[in-house]
Amino acid sequence: MAAQREWFEKDYYADLGVSSTATPKEITTAYRRLARKFHPDANPNDSVAEEKFKTISAAYDVVGDAGRRKEYDGVRAMSAGGGARGFGAPGGFGANQSGGDFAGADLGEMLGNLFGKGGGRPFQDVGASGGPKRGGDLETDLHLSFLDALKGVTTSVNLISDASCPTCSGSGASLGTHPRQCGECSGRGVLDDNQGFFSFSRPCNSCQGRGVIIDNPCLTCHGSGITTRPRVVKVRLPEGVKEGQQIRLKGKGTPGKNGGPTGDLYVRVHVEPHALFGRDGDNLTITVPVTFPELALGADIKVPTVDGDSVTIRIPPGTPNGRVFRVKARGVSSASGRGDLLISAELVVPTSLTEPERQALVALRDSASGSPRNFQSV
Ligand SMILES: [Zn+2]
Ligand SMILES: [Zn+2]
Repeated sequence: MAAQREWFEKDYYADLGVSSTATPKEITTAYRRLARKFHPDANPNDSVAEEKFKTISAAYDVVGDAGRRKEYDGVRAMSAGGGARGFGAPGGFGANQSGGDFAGADLGEMLGNLFGKGGGRPFQDVGASGGPKRGGDLETDLHLSFLDALKGVTTSVNLISDASCPTCSGSGASLGTHPRQCGECSGRGVLDDNQGFFSFSRPCNSCQGRGVIIDNPCLTCHGSGITTRPRVVKVRLPEGVKEGQQIRLKGKGTPGKNGGPTGDLYVRVHVEPHALFGRDGDNLTITVPVTFPELALGADIKVPTVDGDSVTIRIPPGTPNGRVFRVKARGVSSASGRGDLLISAELVVPTSLTEPERQALVALRDSASGSPRNFQSV
């Protein structure tokens, strides 16, 4: 979270009754003592105590966190140096200030410096830190057999990721209690703030931008509503999924923050190769070994299919090696229909011969039309 403009105005150490050099432990102890004292449950219908409780919660939220405390100390140091004096005071930062504290300074640059990251766009980060935020998208890989990818399959992927807390179902409130709407911002998580020329939306301090206040945080997730745990997500893959294809599972990613929607899960499909079949888009391919006599004399050849049965193709006499036969609608089924099965006839040359085979081949070679080479025209 970026520095907030409230940091100029507030003394969080004083709110907690500790010095600015207090150790983290001293701060936590002070916070716990005050939180118990001013807790709304202990002070029903006491708006003063409620305000006090909010104040100390907001203070602890900053100085109770090492990183944010450092940022806050930095802002305070700058503020004490004089550059930002008058900031936030009525009329102190408005249109009529040309002769005032900021004379000669580049306003955007100044604010950019003060807020660390803005770089001429002050408060950009402040708005982003409040209100509902969509959860992140997740990616995972899924390995499928060739035939499962063709048929489509319902399977599951195992993830270790942020997920809605199972104890409180993501509410962040301990069992039997409920978060209540933040009174300060009416559940919006942000407050509008007009300062002369500027209109800011800043995260509500009472609820830290969540829009709700959790009096009794869930013990499992400490009020965040999110835990990191292994989970199993069911995935239904349509028939005909391809290698590298991404399946989007809406709402199966990381839970959102402050009531924002859950992100999506992208499952990338990896298809294992098959011993016999290959794939070319929606067509399946298979290579069928054939003998020279089958190509030369013609033959009927049985070819297996992915449906578990077989088809018979007729190889006409005099078929060249490598010729592809197409069998309609025996390929990959998908939403757009079914592709074809493409069968390549590949000549296999025998590496060993029986004596009768050898004699038959010699006779063929020595016959009048035995040689295909005719180079006389060269
Ligand atoms: Zn929980
Ligand atoms: Zn609020």
